[in-house]
Amino acid sequence: TTQIRVGIVGYGNLGRGVETAIGLSPDMSLTGVFTRRDPASVTTVGTATEVFAIDELDRDRDDIDVLILCGGSRSDLPEQSPALAARFSIVDSYDNHAHIPEHFAAVDAAARPAGTTAVISTGWDPGLFSLNRVFSEAIIPQGATYTFWGRGLSQGHSDALRRVPGVAGGVQYTLPSEAAMERVRAGEHPDLSTRERHTRECFVVLEEGADAETVRAEIVSMPDYFEPYDTTVHFISAQELERDHQGMPHGGFVIRSGTTSPGTQQVIEYQLALESNPEFTASVLVAYARAAARMNRAGVVGAQTVYDVAPGLLSPLSPEQLRADYL
Ligand code: NDP
Repeated sequence: TTQIRVGIVGYGNLGRGVETAIGLSPDMSLTGVFTRRDPASVTTVGTATEVFAIDELDRDRDDIDVLILCGGSRSDLPEQSPALAARFSIVDSYDNHAHIPEHFAAVDAAARPAGTTAVISTGWDPGLFSLNRVFSEAIIPQGATYTFWGRGLSQGHSDALRRVPGVAGGVQYTLPSEAAMERVRAGEHPDLSTRERHTRECFVVLEEGADAETVRAEIVSMPDYFEPYDTTVHFISAQELERDHQGMPHGGFVIRSGTTSPGTQQVIEYQLALESNPEFTASVLVAYARAAARMNRAGVVGAQTVYDVAPGLLSPLSPEQLRADYL
């Protein structure tokens, strides 16, 4: 078996996590980090990691099997994923659920004629949670599925928050409703509105001279991200942000309960409890990068989602080993 050679595009929290995760995968190697910033200004976790300007990807490169895109979903990935899928196999973690069909179409239109393989919207949600929703619904057709997140810091929502004019810094926490989760586990199948399942809490540092009320109104009315929830915005100092909000925990639950015959209750529950959301998401991206490289070699091209990737392709083990030791 040959090594799978990976390039990281964008070096923030997720980019750092991918660098670390590749170090834990002996069948994969890191070609380098590609950034829009001055490469000399980017300090990597690994001292041997090479950092290149993103323009370096315009050259014909034969030292990359797959690029892992680590930019933000709001502004980076809608541009970078289609542009890069026209020349490389890619994996991204595009997490704006409402716009995944458009993102898929744009990436597919670039990847298919180029003969590249592009796995979009992987991670844990979308990603592992999406898989669990589909598994449990396919298995228990009569029932109801519920996804609860948190309490945790949401990367996608914090990213969106920080791009609001007047915001100097900030974080967003998602909180699940315990009462709602207990009703679901008990098989009640409650009709929960988006607002009843979770709330969102933002901690924001204002730019000098920015008006708090204008910024608050802009945040709580942001479509898809904040508008469908009860969102609270707290204004704090840069010092408080630094002192109280540096961890990046997250996680959540996918629960389906239903019946297979009258009165026979079946419950499937999947839980993630993550101390570092970016390190975990990065680990998922690396496993899907392995699958993308293998699918490309096998001639499976175009945009793909987690639903299109066979689980065995994620494992470094061979199909023979998996059959012998894991079935
Ligand atoms: P960051 O804000 O840390 O990084 C995003 C981009 O910003 C980087 O790729 C980098 O690009 C640029 N950047 C990073 N640091 C700096 C800096 N100091 N100065 C200037 N630019 C910088 O975002 P995260 O890595 O935390 O998250 C990225 C995305 O991951 C989220 O938007 C979300 O879409 C996704 N995600 C998905 C999950 C899922 O389950 N599907 C879960 C968690 C996250 P460059 O190097 O080119 O400048």
